[in-house]
Amino acid sequence: MCDTEWRFRRLTCPHCGETEAGKLPVHTAESITHVRVDACTTCSRYIKTVDFRKDGNAVPLVDELAAVELDIWAQEQGLTKLRANVLGL
Ligand SMILES: [Zn+2]
Repeated sequence: MCDTEWRFRRLTCPHCGETEAGKLPVHTAESITHVRVDACTTCSRYIKTVDFRKDGNAVPLVDELAAVELDIWAQEQGLTKLRANVLGL
């Protein structure tokens, strides 16, 4: 929402601090492979991550919106998004 970047540890849930790799599954879609769901099975929250290693021209604000199918998948799994995007989704 604030369009700000900051450093954060990998393999750590930003909501509850879980660090066990087996509780932090990742899900991607074939249609937009540089955006993924980083989930936490401990607190049932998720965030979407834009991977610049896969697409150096990615635009996180736009690509996050374009990957709405990942939100649908996550919600079908019983996960709750940690923070809504600019459209409130
Ligand atoms: Zn968590």
